[in-house]
Amino acid sequence: MAVWHIEEDGSLQPHATVANRPRPAAHTPAEILRHTFGYPEFRPLQADIIHNALNRRDTLAIMPTGSGKSLCYQIPALLFDGLTVVVSPLISLMQDQVMQLHALGVSAAYLNSSLDYATYGQTVQDIRAGRYKLLYAAPETLLRDETLNLLSQTQLDALVIDEAHCISSWGHDFRPEYRQIAAVRQRFPSAVCLAFTATATPRVQQDIKQTLHFRDENEFLASFDRPNLFLEVLPKRDAIAQVLAFVRERPSTESGIIYCATRKQVDNITAALRHAGFNALPYHGGMDSETRAANQNAFIYDKVPIMVATIAFGMGINKPDVRYVLHADLPKDVESYYQQIGRAGRDGLPAHCRLLLSLGDVFTQRKLIESNDPAEQAGQHARLDEMVRWAQAADCRRNRLLAYFGETASPTTCDQCDNCRQTEHATADLTIAAQKFLSCVKRTGGRFGASHIIKILRGSRDKKLLQWGHDKLSTYNIGQEFSNHEWQFLAQQFVQMDLLEPDLQYQTLKLTAEGEAVLKGKPVAGRLPHWEDGSPRKESAADLSPRHPELFEVLRRKRAELAAELNYPPYAIFPDRTLIEMATYLPQSPASLANVHGVGELKLKRYGEPFIKLIQWYCRNNGLAEEARPTTAVPSSPPPTSLSPRALQMAQAFTNGRTIPDLVREQGVKRQTIISHLGDYVKAGHKLPAERLQEESELTAEQQAAVMTAFDTHGGDYLRPIYDALQGQVDYDELHLWRIIWIIGA
Ligand code: ADP
Ligand code: ZN
Repeated sequence: MAVWHIEEDGSLQPHATVANRPRPAAHTPAEILRHTFGYPEFRPLQADIIHNALNRRDTLAIMPTGSGKSLCYQIPALLFDGLTVVVSPLISLMQDQVMQLHALGVSAAYLNSSLDYATYGQTVQDIRAGRYKLLYAAPETLLRDETLNLLSQTQLDALVIDEAHCISSWGHDFRPEYRQIAAVRQRFPSAVCLAFTATATPRVQQDIKQTLHFRDENEFLASFDRPNLFLEVLPKRDAIAQVLAFVRERPSTESGIIYCATRKQVDNITAALRHAGFNALPYHGGMDSETRAANQNAFIYDKVPIMVATIAFGMGINKPDVRYVLHADLPKDVESYYQQIGRAGRDGLPAHCRLLLSLGDVFTQRKLIESNDPAEQAGQHARLDEMVRWAQAADCRRNRLLAYFGETASPTTCDQCDNCRQTEHATADLTIAAQKFLSCVKRTGGRFGASHIIKILRGSRDKKLLQWGHDKLSTYNIGQEFSNHEWQFLAQQFVQMDLLEPDLQYQTLKLTAEGEAVLKGKPVAGRLPHWEDGSPRKESAADLSPRHPELFEVLRRKRAELAAELNYPPYAIFPDRTLIEMATYLPQSPASLANVHGVGELKLKRYGEPFIKLIQWYCRNNGLAEEARPTTAVPSSPPPTSLSPRALQMAQAFTNGRTIPDLVREQGVKRQTIISHLGDYVKAGHKLPAERLQEESELTAEQQAAVMTAFDTHGGDYLRPIYDALQGQVDYDELHLWRIIWIIGA
């Protein structure tokens, strides 16, 4: 087996000096990632875990749902000569994984009790003949003598344990047969063992490692942060009316889950949605299993966008494009809440998580607890208390959630929860953005809503827009500097600032007297839609709306057609993000289509042509040309356009000798706010005395040097890579400060 090491650019390469068994092709993990999976770069920890696997080091990885665990063993499986066996407890998950692998052209199969006799026999023969790279098996199937004998006749290179927390009786999902996997591992000592789970308390982690005889250093703990999820809690007044209002705001094709505490609530909300014309289906334990499976499939296969469900729904659901999770009732604890919202946005695109909170719900939950096993009630009450405390908190919801799972979160605000958005200080100069938006509202006579205005600003070729002749306006296509998502964020602020008055009945926006004043030159200070702190913005805040929505719909239909033909869910053909990019950059050749997110070699070959044809057709009809796709390394939002007066004032005060603590006291703002002003000042090209900034730091000289080196290596655009490079030992407050020092010196 070749030995692998990580290159400076983060790629994995075979070690040149060790040439053991000849390998079929000079493939590296990064090449497989690009060519087979169609992704440009690894997510955090993926490269490290793959590196470990290829070097035959047993590994335990704790990574939240949606962080990309599968790739961590699928890529090594493709590089190994022999077979990789994946133990997985859920039949639906196995089927889904194998189906997705087939769509990528990877030979994979599963063995479990759902197979009929003939298929089972054929699969066994194919395994013996070495036709598969990956074999998924239920634990009870794996433990059978026949299976073990079969495996001894193959070259077993890796044994993967998915949902590894099932090994531990301390976990919430203990399965005794999982414990016996330890014996299987001993029987195949040359196979590397990889264990994955999305939930494990320290005690469970310890238990997994002990049972499997793992060493500590091979444990990877990913951050539980899911920066693309927007978290929000609203007081519950009328659950049904609030659910209806929420889904009305969203595009009708968007997938979402509405969680309820009871079957009755599921039925009521489903009925109300259907009555209002929405395509929704129910899912709860009181339904027969056939209907349940049919409803679940309708959701997975994009036939029905809205699933109204009790917590019975969601286990084993791998659907990547769930755009919202709405809790109509209070979950019983933070663990459940985290697991349920975890089903949203697994593709890394923005997703919305809203929880409706009423004190009545707390009371109902308490009643439920009182009917449980008395021995467990105290713990359940305590966990419910935590949940309520979380929901009622006024500070950053994300930080609180991370703290609950034992992570020290960054001290800054996250921008992606209701509380952070409300309390953040308004500091950036938004005058130009406001003028663009307001003038567009004015020129269209105050008869349109925010979405339409944004389409004009971003130069959309939307049919309605063209019918209105809005492509002829002077404000057409002058707002490319912000994405759709970002303009929505700005528009909300303009409404809050009273520059615009919304008409709730017609969903339109009108200019107010204050708005008129802005058009005459009155400055506007507010918050830029600017994701700081290295949240993986490239992926997470990626624009959800294609530049050419009509084409997007055409491509979506083609995808549905192909999916129906092949009996795949649509996302297995191409995920939404791929279609969004197609309908934005208009790739018209295989070469440029290959650059699009999620388009690997096989998918290009199999499905590329019909999509290219449709794009060509659309471009011909509309006189459009292909556009260059920006590389992912470039952040999609520009730096703040102009410096706010506040930043200027702070910078001058600092230069004149005030320290940061002085400013905190005098101005009554947080330390972080001041550092952020100083940062804006420096980013705008001005200088500040670097040594004085250095005096504000609490880092040791050694740490300071390490931070500077990390900035030299990773650049200053994102703090997350720096934070990770320093193993989380330097907090974000310090990193913000040191970024300024680094920029001054650079
Ligand atoms: P998990 O098993 O951790 O819940 P998955 O393995 O199902 O997560 O991955 C979630 C989604 O992220 C999948 O759609 C997967 O294809 C995608 N994904 C995984 N790794 C990457 C990557 N490096 N770049 C882009 N997308 C990725
Ligand atoms: Zn927050």
